[in-house]
Amino acid sequence: MNPSISRAVMLAATIATIVIRWPHGVRRYSVKVTRSLRTGRERMLVGAAVLGLLILLIWAVSPVLAFADFPLRPLPFTAGVACLVISLWLFHRSHVDLGLNWSPTLELRESHRLVTRGIYRAIRHPMYTSLLLYGVGQALVVPNWFAGPFYLAAMATLVALRLGVEERMMLDEFGDQYAAYMRNTKRLIPGIW
Ligand code: SAH
Repeated sequence: MNPSISRAVMLAATIATIVIRWPHGVRRYSVKVTRSLRTGRERMLVGAAVLGLLILLIWAVSPVLAFADFPLRPLPFTAGVACLVISLWLFHRSHVDLGLNWSPTLELRESHRLVTRGIYRAIRHPMYTSLLLYGVGQALVVPNWFAGPFYLAAMATLVALRLGVEERMMLDEFGDQYAAYMRNTKRLIPGIW
């Protein structure tokens, strides 16, 4: 298969990601942050995600990473596109359900409400599930050993280091309500974990 199709798919997925997040990114400035756990480590993790995007761009427009290219096959490509589509749907749903309670980092906002409905009824971290699934999709669609899995590695690190801190922050803020929510839900995969 011609790798140009990978470039086209990743361009479409990147645009969809921006279109989904943009209005929420703008709206969040209307609500004051009351508590922030935006540490240096948090900034580094978000930075690694941005670096992932930059590496993808370098792969798409220049031959710098061509040494790590491999042939594109239909089966992983199709599976990757399916992962990307599902992940973008999940990304959209979790933004809609979180509404003004969403932050790109560990923050609590004025009148923060605990969301347990919609997609949050099934799992506690659907947005992180969507980011990981996106990473899997990119790794399957991009036929390059470096640019393909980089985003997945960055997201897996972010989720691994953030989950515990985020849940402690939510427990601190919402107490028994969050503890009960934890008992009734899984973290990332419905019914499994
Ligand atoms: N971990 C969630 C949310 C990611 S956005 C997910 O993957 O879907 C991160 C911010 O969302 C956190 O700073 C926290 O303030 C907020 N948050 C996380 N879970 C929430 C919930 N169930 N209800 C309301 N806000 C939540």
